[in-house]
Amino acid sequence: MFTPKRILFEKNAIDYSIGKHIYEYFSGNRNIEIINLSGNRIMDNIPGNTAAQTYKEGKSTLVVGIKKGLKFQSCKPSAHYQLPLLSGCIGLCQYCYLNTNLGDRPYMRVNVNIDDIFGQVDKYIKERLPAVTIFEGSATSDPVPVEPYSNHLKYSVEYFSNTANGRFRFVTKFTDIDTLLNIDHKNHTEIRFTLNTDKVINDFEKRTPSLKKRIEASIKLIQSGYPTGFLIAPVFIYDNWKEDYHNLLLMLEEKLPDKISHPISFEIISHRYTGRAKGIINEIFPDNSLPMNDEERLFKYGQFGYGKFVYPKNILAEISSFFQKELAEIFKNRNIDIKYII
Ligand code: SF4
Repeated sequence: MFTPKRILFEKNAIDYSIGKHIYEYFSGNRNIEIINLSGNRIMDNIPGNTAAQTYKEGKSTLVVGIKKGLKFQSCKPSAHYQLPLLSGCIGLCQYCYLNTNLGDRPYMRVNVNIDDIFGQVDKYIKERLPAVTIFEGSATSDPVPVEPYSNHLKYSVEYFSNTANGRFRFVTKFTDIDTLLNIDHKNHTEIRFTLNTDKVINDFEKRTPSLKKRIEASIKLIQSGYPTGFLIAPVFIYDNWKEDYHNLLLMLEEKLPDKISHPISFEIISHRYTGRAKGIINEIFPDNSLPMNDEERLFKYGQFGYGKFVYPKNILAEISSFFQKELAEIFKNRNIDIKYII
């Protein structure tokens, strides 16, 4: 669970039940600075003289706010809309896409006006009837570390369980999922976990749970009957990568329960970066050791119009055949669905 160093309450946020609950939850803790904002100058209240310092302090800050505009961003190709309940993440993954998207807002933000947000969800679902509309809960955040006191995910799972045409999905590396157990989710929520080898977690994913802990949390959700999947991402090539990813898959298979209600999905994504991301990463993690030597990569234009540095074709082919073979062999007695290996 995320215990922030400071909490900034936007004006009137405390008047909402979630805002009040968060205030009461933390107000007795003398180690946490509570700041009531009169305006919207959030970054002025986060200390730091350099980009790296402000980023680090921002990652220890919780903002409790009110979502103003209620137009949701689209979320292709995995969902129809982003669900804007939260933004930011407490993790310090050096390669994180949020560094580029939310670099100037590194704090964790919880929006408290969930009735407004779900009123908008309802409108979007009605607009697309009779089709099903999917909402992504982690497009700009990892929502799990604040779940014990925000309860946003619990609320969302319950909300979507009561809609015939709305579906919810999110992905996480974190393990604070106990609020989601024992809910009659009606299979309307899909939860995916991002896994990686211990070496990648130790080198590049600071302040995130270990592989073992992520798998344990995923098993609890599988046992609660949720449609569940695994992203193995980003896949890095290093000495012994095959052995490490093999052991990861083996560990997962061994921990899976015998009876699983849904096929287990897999998405495998090799490491890639944009030129812009590389610049930002080097600024906020000056000591990072991410493999980002452009000469060792292939520059490729993606579907969103900007280029990325991906592994060269022969390595991508090796990653693909390795995971195809390993998944087929290790999970041969399991019902799995390999979505893609890229
Ligand atoms: Fe980014 Fe995910 Fe790591 Fe959070 S856990 S820092 S969202 S990659």
